[in-house]
Amino acid sequence: MDNSKNSAHRAAVDRLRNKQRFLSGNDLAQALMAGDIRALAEAITLVESSRADHQKQAEELINTVMPHRHKSFRLGLTGVPGVGKSTFIEAFGQHLLSMGHKLAVLAIDPSSQRSKGSILGDKTRMETLSQSEGVFIRPSPSADSLGGVARKTRESIILCEAAGFDYIIVETVGVGQSEVEVKSMVDFFLLLMLAGAGDELQGIKRGIMEMADGLAITKVDGQNGTLAKQAQRNYKNALHLLPQNENGWITEVMLCSALQGDGFKEIYDHLRSFEERMTANGFFDGNRMEQSLHWMKQTIANQLQDRFNSHPEVQLQMPILAEQVKSAALSPFRAARLLLEKFFA
Ligand code: GDP
Repeated sequence: MDNSKNSAHRAAVDRLRNKQRFLSGNDLAQALMAGDIRALAEAITLVESSRADHQKQAEELINTVMPHRHKSFRLGLTGVPGVGKSTFIEAFGQHLLSMGHKLAVLAIDPSSQRSKGSILGDKTRMETLSQSEGVFIRPSPSADSLGGVARKTRESIILCEAAGFDYIIVETVGVGQSEVEVKSMVDFFLLLMLAGAGDELQGIKRGIMEMADGLAITKVDGQNGTLAKQAQRNYKNALHLLPQNENGWITEVMLCSALQGDGFKEIYDHLRSFEERMTANGFFDGNRMEQSLHWMKQTIANQLQDRFNSHPEVQLQMPILAEQVKSAALSPFRAARLLLEKFFA
């Protein structure tokens, strides 16, 4: 959208705001596409709601704004608690803003599922960045399942892109459950590591290193400098043992210090060069297409599962059959068939 059209839209949004507290339908879509941050927050609230009417509105909204998304780069970020993820985002975020990007930060925190605490503890994080113009930060949605959290984040990515955000960071806690989900929704998956934290791999499973498109060692300042160089060599060697990426990309180990502001330009340039090369060889678009299909299939699977779980007859029979399976009076396979028959009856 050009600037004059954009400001006309904003004026229209302001007029609407004077009349209504919350926007809906086409008004919400128009406000969102004009880059109105409140509209974006409201739209994500709709996506995150479990009410059926909200879900329907969210689906309609996404469908409307989908073709109007801005071209974007989606970066996934993971690492164990304390590695420096939020500090990284603060520092890297400033660099992104200086390069003229608009940044949205979304989180996937499996520990934020209802009743459990949140490892990412979003409220106090990234305080400076969250007050900057052109930045939108949203904590992890809560849901009963990781699949539910992930679906909501996927939909939120689309809404952010429609609102004009061209750099999306999806952050997750490196505790091993949510990485697969994040990998399936980003263009580049960056793993943050500490140098000299004892165990060379810090409980980071080989699978996560294999998924990463890049590694960055954090806190490379003070006495950490020498340790970091050593760790860089170790991780490089470890990466050599992994199978080659099918897109031809070589996973690098980078260094950074949020404290000193070092390494962020290099990381940004590295990501740009990934984007350029993957666009040229077709992997960038191919990957996004595959991800879209994956999201479609995942959404079907999640919704089937939800409907199955909330089916009255299934709810009634499940505990009875579960007891029989536990006591080996019934095979798990027959129990599953009997329950499915109740569902499809
Ligand atoms: P997260 O749990 O992964 O989000 O980690 P945080 O960003 O909250 O950082 C954990 C701790 O590491 C905080 O006390 C930070 O101040 C510290 N930290 C983060 N980045 C750096 C850095 O570049 N250098 C140093 N020396 N400390 C850092």
